[in-house]
Amino acid sequence: MRIQVDQNLCIGCGSCVMIAAKTFKLNPDNKCYVLNESLGPEEKSPSSIVESPATPEMDEGEVILEAARACPVQAIRLYEDDGKEIVL
Ligand code: SF4
Repeated sequence: MRIQVDQNLCIGCGSCVMIAAKTFKLNPDNKCYVLNESLGPEEKSPSSIVESPATPEMDEGEVILEAARACPVQAIRLYEDDGKEIVL
């Protein structure tokens, strides 16, 4: 699974962090990012889209799915390994 967060859409509500604390975190600007050590703690791409493959250290897939569904502004998108978007 690949996880993508659009930080332009994120309003920093923290719902995803509460549900999947091993996958999502808020940066000092109150924008969500994906917890992936190799990306660094405040990862921000120029487009404000941050993404990461799911890693074994993260939450289970079902939990990540639940967190994405809980986002009030649909800032989280999930993709299968083959690139197909997962319908939330
Ligand atoms: S649930 Fe959505 S809006 Fe809330 S912090 Fe996570 S990505 Fe941002």
